[in-house]
Amino acid sequence: MERTFAIIKPDAVAARHTGRIIQRIEEAGFQIRAMRMRHLSKAEAEGFYAVHRERPFFPSLTTFMSSGPSVVMALEAPDAIRKWRTLMGATDPAKADAGTLRKEFGRSIENNATHGSDAPETAAFELGYFFPGIDLIG
Ligand code: GDP
Repeated sequence: MERTFAIIKPDAVAARHTGRIIQRIEEAGFQIRAMRMRHLSKAEAEGFYAVHRERPFFPSLTTFMSSGPSVVMALEAPDAIRKWRTLMGATDPAKADAGTLRKEFGRSIENNATHGSDAPETAAFELGYFFPGIDLIG
């Protein structure tokens, strides 16, 4: 079993796609081990995306991520990190495969509906950033 960190981003929550995305997560075989709605502060978004701080889109991305509530989750499955990124699809919804969440729910390369950790090290950092160990079920 592996755990990964997922976010339903503010664009998808505002568009009332939360329920449909959670349904897709469960149908794909993930166990949701923790889940919380959070309206990130700008500083929290900057800390979460610190790896991107030199990128030109960092100010816009962190403003977007702090623009409204998100749903943050710990997902568990065999090969969860790869499996969740496959279900999300490519960063740019226009390039995402048919049937992926970003294809269905994303609107732009920035407003792309979901986040997922890209490696075991980032999953550990991101899970710890939002879920102190005591909050994880199981
Ligand atoms: P991810 O791992 O697929 O989420 O992609 P990245 O780690 O490369 O980027 C993190 C997030 O920054 C993405 O999910 C998008 O919300 C945003 N992003 C990535 N590339 C761009 C870009 O070229 N322009 C803008 N405005 N946002 C971007």
